[in-house]
Amino acid sequence: MIIWDLVVVGAGPAGLCAARVAAAAGVRTLVLDRAVHPRYKTCGGGLIGTSLSAVAGRIEVPAHDRVDRVTFTRDGRRGFTRRHGTPLVTMVRRDEFDDRLRAAAVAAGAEVRGGLAVRGLDQDPDGVRVRLADGTAVTARTVIGADGSSGVTARHVGVRFRQVDLGLERELPVPPAEAARWRGRLLLDWGPVPGSYAWVFPKGDRLTVGVIAARGEGDRTRAYLRDFLARLGLAEVPAEHDSGHLTRCRADDSPLRHGRVLVAGDAAGLLEPWSREGISFALRSGTLAGAAVAAGDLDRYARDVHERLVPSMRAGHRLLEVFERRPDVFHALLATPAGWSMFVRFCQGRASFDRTLDRVPVRAALSLLDRLPPLRPRPASAGRPLTAAPR
Ligand SMILES: Cc1cc2nc3c(=O)[nH]c(=O)nc-3n(C[C@H](O)[C@H](O)[C@H](O)COP(=O)(O)OP(=O)(O)OC[C@H]3O[C@@H](n4cnc5c(N)ncnc54)[C@H](O)[C@@H]3O)c2cc1C
Repeated sequence: MIIWDLVVVGAGPAGLCAARVAAAAGVRTLVLDRAVHPRYKTCGGGLIGTSLSAVAGRIEVPAHDRVDRVTFTRDGRRGFTRRHGTPLVTMVRRDEFDDRLRAAAVAAGAEVRGGLAVRGLDQDPDGVRVRLADGTAVTARTVIGADGSSGVTARHVGVRFRQVDLGLERELPVPPAEAARWRGRLLLDWGPVPGSYAWVFPKGDRLTVGVIAARGEGDRTRAYLRDFLARLGLAEVPAEHDSGHLTRCRADDSPLRHGRVLVAGDAAGLLEPWSREGISFALRSGTLAGAAVAAGDLDRYARDVHERLVPSMRAGHRLLEVFERRPDVFHALLATPAGWSMFVRFCQGRASFDRTLDRVPVRAALSLLDRLPPLRPRPASAGRPLTAAPR
């Protein structure tokens, strides 16, 4: 029986980056996914600058649009549009993007097998047995769990979450006139449910339209998406995909490793809490996990994540708090030069999010928001720490 140096569970951005880095360093690497690439994934597919930097020189990004204009609305009203001289967000379809990451991992020497769902893990000090749904098993010295926000590896490691949100999304094929209306521009709407927002992301002949809000507000979140689509005249467009998915942000003290199993990306709850942007966190944490395995130093992974990713997550929690309290004032602040500059810096990823929020005008705006009374409290269920559990 083969004993792999590394088995990666999940062939999304986190798993495929981990596999590429480890395999390139000579680690015998197998990636398992229950799906076969190219596969659909519920996701806006908006790549910020941090994501582009993480894949630069590794893959050619299959962009369907590069937006330099953003329209902001507050529950459909008070709209304004800002333009930046250079692209802010690059729009991809996840089936195509992830398939390029798969090809890069294979080119580096990893083996990727699709159509194999992992059921569970058993480990002892020497290695890990990865149990598959078809009754077989594979054995590895180390496992990287990258099976997304509801996966089995988070349960094995005991990942705890402080924030769980529900994202609903539709992929809409649109006629040329509608596509032209959106080309180069995205829309963000700050919604009626605390901490919620909706988006339109243009992708050539398709629009990705979605909403995200704290879990526990399912009816209101669905109603928000319905109203948003109706306002934009898109309610009757037949969807190519109509799906929902949970996003989860880790608690500050949540583990990133249990024995010989590391978790990365959504499986670790690594996600920017305000925007719920997760691709850059998946790409970066996967890379760090793969590098730790290649170096034979598993301890290094948690240190690297705490140093490079956790400060931005803390900043995101802070921004979400003030955004939830006063989305109306948040909206108004975005129209100011300081607010727009903060947004541009976030999209471009020129500085880490914590450094962006630490700039004097942004700090002043956040403390102003702190002093205002909240419009509505976040639902009690939304912030409760949760341990990864079967759904
Ligand atoms: C509605 C919505 C919109 C979003 N929009 C954006 C956006 O515009 N930009 C952005 O940066 N982020 C966005 N995100 C977040 C982003 O999608 C995730 O953070 C990102 O996909 C995480 O990557 P990952 O590799 O950790 O996990 P995933 O991309 O979820 O990949 C996990 C892989 O594991 C596989 N898998 C799962 N279970 C098993 C199993 N038991 N056995 C084997 N394989 C398994 C799956 O098939 C999948 O291929 C959005 C999320 C949602 C829900």
